[in-house]
Amino acid sequence: MTRAVVVGSGPNGLAAATVLARAGVEVTVVEAADVLGGGARSVASPRPGLIQDHCAAVHPMAPMGAFWRTLDLDAMGIALRYAPIDCAHPLDDGSAGVLHTSVTETAAGLGADGPRWEAAFGRPSRAFAKLSEDIMTPMLGVPRHPFALARFGLVAGPPPTWVARFFRTERARALFLGVAAHAINRIDVPLVGGIGAGIITAGHAVGWPVIEGGTGVFTDAMVRMLDGMGVTFETSRRIRRREDLPAHDLAILDVHPHDAATILQGALPERIRRAYRRSRSGPAAFKVDFAVRGGIPWLNEEARLAGTVHVAGSAAEIVAAEHDAAVLRRMPERPFVLVGQQYLADPSRADGDTVPVYAYAHVPSGYRGDATAAIVRQIERFAPGFRDRILATRARTTMASALENPNFVNGDILTGAKTPIRFLTGPRITPRPYDTGVPGYLLCSAATPPGPGIHGMSGYNAARRALQQLGLRTSAHQHEHEPMPVGAG
Ligand SMILES: Cc1cc2nc3c(=O)[nH]c(=O)nc-3n(C[C@H](O)[C@H](O)[C@H](O)COP(=O)(O)OP(=O)(O)OC[C@H]3O[C@@H](n4cnc5c(N)ncnc54)[C@H](O)[C@@H]3O)c2cc1C
Repeated sequence: MTRAVVVGSGPNGLAAATVLARAGVEVTVVEAADVLGGGARSVASPRPGLIQDHCAAVHPMAPMGAFWRTLDLDAMGIALRYAPIDCAHPLDDGSAGVLHTSVTETAAGLGADGPRWEAAFGRPSRAFAKLSEDIMTPMLGVPRHPFALARFGLVAGPPPTWVARFFRTERARALFLGVAAHAINRIDVPLVGGIGAGIITAGHAVGWPVIEGGTGVFTDAMVRMLDGMGVTFETSRRIRRREDLPAHDLAILDVHPHDAATILQGALPERIRRAYRRSRSGPAAFKVDFAVRGGIPWLNEEARLAGTVHVAGSAAEIVAAEHDAAVLRRMPERPFVLVGQQYLADPSRADGDTVPVYAYAHVPSGYRGDATAAIVRQIERFAPGFRDRILATRARTTMASALENPNFVNGDILTGAKTPIRFLTGPRITPRPYDTGVPGYLLCSAATPPGPGIHGMSGYNAARRALQQLGLRTSAHQHEHEPMPVGAG
């Protein structure tokens, strides 16, 4: 029997383990941390009785991805829940750009820019099932749906700042650039808009779901399923050299390219070793969990109903904040802050009137300061009185993130800067981004396409590539494509 080891138990590692186990491979998952799941975990709130997402919270890209479509979410006990509004972007004048699952409803709220929003995202979102087959696989290949991809490329390819000029209102511009800022990088260069355009398009197809009970429910369910398939797990074991690995015929690495270079040193072709070593960190995330009495008192009514709120002000401010963090490497005066109000979709996370709120700011790579005050100031700007409602706070510094998860080097939660080329190809320019150049060893972390998220597509693609290399067949139910529920948002 073929034996595989998966290094790292993030969503990509677990997806890889699933593909391999289904093909009859004996799989061991080895994890450095003392808990499984990487960025797909829940944590206790700073105030007992609440549930917080530790990292990943909202999952628009996952439901239509090929890997999730092989999962029977109901049987696994995974329920997706939707807030009344997917995302709001409040402005200083009290208005907000508002993203609904329905592209028509979103357009209706954007006034003069409604037809333009519809023109930009209507057709791509209706074609998202096809589109996802191209954008969730390595992009340097022959597209399966060239017309759908070309149309999507009109909003994903140019610098987001150029695409924003297509809109006339501040609401639409800020809404668009706020989602583009999910690339956690400068947003005035080409291709980085792929992440934001993907999220908007997927969101109009399936909504912005959270997982009932917290993102950790997903990992728990995956581990239960894999356990039932005979997969074994070892925690608290950081792999630093090939010799540290349990006996194996195949290894899939859900690790940072730096770690891959270290683990495979001596065996990696020199040009690949250099490419992995050169992989640099993008800006970091400084995260704060809050317990809040009565929720955030947003001035804008729609922000009170939104699962995600982008707190960053005008389009120009977003561009400046991301430029400060990414290019000048200085802490922005008014950072981009993402606020998660997951309890609006999933009330089981709250305790009566006391609700969990999660927020993180984009800060420079390796930022050593405390961004809590800047985050509170930004929220307070659009929700006066927020400060007085805070019952408890817990901050996670960039370095704490890096120490806890070796993939988050310098607090970069995207496993490597999503610069234009890196976003498309991963740590090296190749149509085969999972191959390391060492036979039987593949890289599958979010450093590889299609990049960050808990959709597991890097793990899924890498494991299928490994099976192909071994001449093993994927099992029939790897190809199932069940229709997924569409969000209620
Ligand atoms: C604050 C925050 C908010 C986020 N928000 C979202 C969101 O809303 N939606 C979304 O989709 N995504 C979000 N993400 C990103 C998402 O969490 C990641 O993209 C995703 O978890 C990447 O999965 P992965 O399997 O590649 O790696 P990870 O989840 O990072 O897991 C890698 C695992 O491998 C282990 N490991 C690494 N190196 C070694 C080694 N040498 N030996 C043994 N074990 C090793 C690590 O300990 C870790 O457990 C967020 C992340 C953070 C931190």
